Amino acid sequence: MQAVDSGTFDAIVVGTGPGGATVARDLSRSGKKVLILEWGPGGPIRGNLAQYARELMVPGKSLLITNRMLGLVRGITTGGSSVFYYGTCFPVPLAMFASRGVDLAGDIEEIRRELPIARLRDEMITPMAGRLMESAQRLGFNWQKLEKFMFQDRWKPEYRFGYYGDPNGVKWSARMHADDAVAHGAVLINGAKVTRVIVENGTATGVEYLSKGEKHTVSAPVVVISAGGIGSPLILRSSGIAEAGYDFFFDPLITVCGTIKDVALRNNEIPMSAGVLMKDEGYVMTDMAIPPSNHLVFTAQVMRLTKLLAFRHTARIMVKVKDTPSGRLTERGGVRKKLSGADLDKLLHGYANARRILREAGATDIYKTWYLAAHPGGTVKIGQLVDADLQTQYRNLYVCDCSVIPEAWGLPPVMTVLALGRRLARHLGAQQTSAAAA
Ligand SMILES: Cc1cc2nc3c(=O)[nH]c(=O)nc-3n(C[C@H](O)[C@H](O)[C@H](O)COP(=O)(O)OP(=O)(O)OC[C@H]3O[C@@H](n4cnc5c(N)ncnc54)[C@H](O)[C@@H]3O)c2cc1C
Repeated sequence: MQAVDSGTFDAIVVGTGPGGATVARDLSRSGKKVLILEWGPGGPIRGNLAQYARELMVPGKSLLITNRMLGLVRGITTGGSSVFYYGTCFPVPLAMFASRGVDLAGDIEEIRRELPIARLRDEMITPMAGRLMESAQRLGFNWQKLEKFMFQDRWKPEYRFGYYGDPNGVKWSARMHADDAVAHGAVLINGAKVTRVIVENGTATGVEYLSKGEKHTVSAPVVVISAGGIGSPLILRSSGIAEAGYDFFFDPLITVCGTIKDVALRNNEIPMSAGVLMKDEGYVMTDMAIPPSNHLVFTAQVMRLTKLLAFRHTARIMVKVKDTPSGRLTERGGVRKKLSGADLDKLLHGYANARRILREAGATDIYKTWYLAAHPGGTVKIGQLVDADLQTQYRNLYVCDCSVIPEAWGLPPVMTVLALGRRLARHLGAQQTSAAAA
């Protein structure tokens, strides 16, 4: 393991998802010495099932099953969940943040300038996704192409989507920001699981972490925890902030499937290429291509055994709802949460509409898969456990990831987390500059 000396760094960043990688990149670019501690591995993204299984599907680590048997996955790797995400960019809930004194508008403009965010070109919409879009529109749904974080100029028709990670670099992921941070002088240690923050007289002075079974400590004047919606509250709790990890959202979802005999899925399907936000009803529907391995699991789970081999002709719509914040994390990171009656009603409402769209598209044998949870967050809310600058009750200890989102809003959050990361890096840079001048 690389040796690190306390006193060498201006900041420690824990985790390299969209939140941590952005803070680390921007601080490094502005000349700060940053130490990044990442629990997961680095190494090349191979985009194969073995890597996907190791970094997203390890029970109790990256694959969590709630007490109500909902599966929830998180990427434990450099780049976090964004290595395996679907690359869809949803608008940031600006008003929700503005009401807490957090203005993200300028950061969003900057992100739009620097990242490849656009609706897919027409030739990237496959016949199956096109069939669903036309059918939804005929029924009067405002089903439109969605914006994606994708370098579309690098895309080739023979490329598969990077469900297992994208070795072709078409899908943008936070791994790219982490690499950029390292290129600007940051030190990244993989396999470093942070266990707690060291606090002296109400001020964070460093962290304790495990690497290859050994305990290490390292200090720096600023500590940023970006270990994700589940990881960050656990670190805070073991550092004395017992209130972290309660009343969170996790965007529960189902997929609704049907067989369409005259359209076959292609190898280059792109999930969530189009969809509709049912704002008043509190859910979103999108097309949802998935890899064959997931089709087998989801279909077997609901005992549709005759559909196991129907992968090529299975059209699929995802229904994801804005859930009521509730639940708690256990001390070991177990997720305890019950869906409310209202949340279940929203899912059923979405199911009925997805069925209509599938029928209109010519699908037969329509069924729904078991519930999943998508984006855990709101475990360390702004206004409750962090202030508008994302600082905790301890001086110099910040949190920057999905966990600070103050309310459920039911949509994929990467754009929001990127904006929070940019804003925090700017704040920290300004603070350290004024401290140096004083
Ligand atoms: C299959 C899938 C599809 C998705 N699709 C979309 C989409 O289309 N659009 C969208 O906006 N969102 C999508 N998401 C959600 C999105 O990927 C996450 O919301 C986002 O990555 C969260 O960013 P984050 O920085 O909060 O945390 P994460 O990405 O979870 O990163 C946390 C990081 O911290 C590390 N870590 C955790 N604990 C520790 C510890 N103790 N010590 C050190 N390191 C630690 C992890 O290894 C990880 O690198 C999807 C998610 C999944 C799983």
